[in-house]
Amino acid sequence: MNATASLQPAAIEIVALTKQYAQGKPAVDNINLRIASGSYCCLLGPSGCGKSTTLRMIAGHESVSSGDILLENRNITDLPAAERGTAMMFQSFALFPHLSALDNVAFSLKMKGVDKAERHAKAQDLLQRVAMGHLADRKPAELSGGQQQRVALARALITQPRVLLLDEPLSALDPFLRIQMRAELRRWQKELGLTFIHVTHSQEEAMALADTMVVMNHGVIEQVGSPHEVYNHPSSEFVARFMGGHNVLETPDGKIGVRTDHMQVAPASDDTTDAPHTKRAVITDVEYQGTYVLLGLQKAGATYTAHTTAEISVMVSEATFAQRPYAVGETVQLRWAPTAAHPLPA
Ligand code: ADP
Ligand code: MG
Repeated sequence: MNATASLQPAAIEIVALTKQYAQGKPAVDNINLRIASGSYCCLLGPSGCGKSTTLRMIAGHESVSSGDILLENRNITDLPAAERGTAMMFQSFALFPHLSALDNVAFSLKMKGVDKAERHAKAQDLLQRVAMGHLADRKPAELSGGQQQRVALARALITQPRVLLLDEPLSALDPFLRIQMRAELRRWQKELGLTFIHVTHSQEEAMALADTMVVMNHGVIEQVGSPHEVYNHPSSEFVARFMGGHNVLETPDGKIGVRTDHMQVAPASDDTTDAPHTKRAVITDVEYQGTYVLLGLQKAGATYTAHTTAEISVMVSEATFAQRPYAVGETVQLRWAPTAAHPLPA
């Protein structure tokens, strides 16, 4: 059986990897990363931070400017895409509309010159594995979104990759299907025992899927960890803000991050100086969200108008809010437990 994650072999190891498209700051800037074999890894970050470039360099669809990429200790940096042991799944699955599911899956074998009987047998086998064997003759338009995703998965798997690369595979789907499809991706990844590297700009998607999240910003890696680690211990102001659900507060000891659901609200005291682990603030928004109420607040003393946007958010349970409702314009005292505060190095 598997030992701890740290003892598992790396499926992918990235060493000092850089991509410079043009003059100026590199799109990917000297990153190092180990991705454990058989894990679900999400590359997460805002648009333009270098996620796709990183993925394309792993796939062999983009040359590297410097650095190395190893797949199971084999240096694949300069190998052609087809010889790397990786396969790519694209946005919206990118199936050929005029081909049957079977021919879509068999396509890359056809390109390799494998004869029809053999490639069809292999494709049928894979469709069977993703529970699509009975729909092998259908065209993509005759399949549901979920079924199309399974065909796309089978098509990627036919090259027997060690690592499956997915670039925003769910982004173009409607929200309902997106949530269904991500649960299915996760299930297939576990069942196949393959390493998945999935690029997304959605924190929610990464948290739902990843064993390991890699948060990127401006071509560098800001933090690597499990969703739980990253969410509960953001290592920088960028990560805290990007993950959401956190307030970034200035304190005499520097910036701290506190989860919006780890702050309490109380009526303001007469003392206008902030005791440790408290802050006076004025309520700017009250939003009912069903199970909780989201309060938007502005530091006390800042000029407040009807157009002021909140700089602090606090999640209050519906029951707590019902006991003591707060109104826009009210001054309150925010509190948090010292253990709820995480220092955020500049
Ligand atoms: P992400 O996938 O995180 O949105 P990308 O990896 O696509 O980001 O892009 C990272 C940076 O590299 C961006 O500034 C983008 O404009 C630039 N870039 C991406 N592809 C190219 C290219 N083919 N030529 C020049 N610049 C590119
Ligand atoms: Mg991208």
